[in-house]
Amino acid sequence: MTAPRLKRNNFGSGGHAYRVDCNCPGRYRKTDPHKATGVTTALGALAKPGLTGWAGRVTAEYAVDNWDVLTHQPPSERLETLKGVQYRTKTRAAMKGNELHATAEKLVRGEDVYVPDEARAEANRLARWLDREEYVGWGGEVPCVNLEHRYAGTLDNAGVLGRRGLTALVDFKRTNRIYEENVYQLAAYRYADLWQPDGPASETAMPEFDGAFVVHITPDAVELVPVEADRSAWTEFLYILQVHRDMEAARDDSRIGAALPSLPDNEEDTPDGE
Ligand SMILES: [Zn+2]
Repeated sequence: MTAPRLKRNNFGSGGHAYRVDCNCPGRYRKTDPHKATGVTTALGALAKPGLTGWAGRVTAEYAVDNWDVLTHQPPSERLETLKGVQYRTKTRAAMKGNELHATAEKLVRGEDVYVPDEARAEANRLARWLDREEYVGWGGEVPCVNLEHRYAGTLDNAGVLGRRGLTALVDFKRTNRIYEENVYQLAAYRYADLWQPDGPASETAMPEFDGAFVVHITPDAVELVPVEADRSAWTEFLYILQVHRDMEAARDDSRIGAALPSLPDNEEDTPDGE
């Protein structure tokens, strides 16, 4: 076989990076010219007013709930604690998301899953839903890449909704609601060129899908939500990708120059009496 063109590097911190056609020796470097932009990283270019409001809300809630602790901290420490609240909360939320993805992937493969007590009801609900749909997975947590536009990502799941007779690109979400951003994300994956459904050696052309869906896991149900992750949404994603790249480039090399030296006063500007 030929060597896979896409490489996904996983870092200990939980982060990851993608490279295309890279034979650079040694470890992954941020400056690697073969780097591909991550789909979710690119979507970071979108403003998230909901998230901004959320940061204020969780910080305020934390302050009210931990008033006594904060009062006993010196002011500088108190400030640091409060500044960090939104990041600590976000990390916890993201971890839950990862656990959900790992659980879903195992359930799709028909493997036994161990879940903590508090997540058991949710995992059972998802397992029953997969059975009811007669869902057959082709791959879970699948790296994929678009070679022309040099972006890459990892899709949640893809397979067949047996009882509906549809091939489907699937994203498991348990956020309160589904955002437009999720549509761009699915469109980006759908129009990738290559994917690796079973490890790097399985790299092959991205299959076509009848539709893209969010499997929305709410506190009391599992809902199958179709999204229009079509060519038009994909074109919008490419614009977002471009905006992200421009923002990155401007960070390294700003188009904003240094202020010019000020001019000497005009005769007319000289106040009377000087
Ligand atoms: Zn390289």
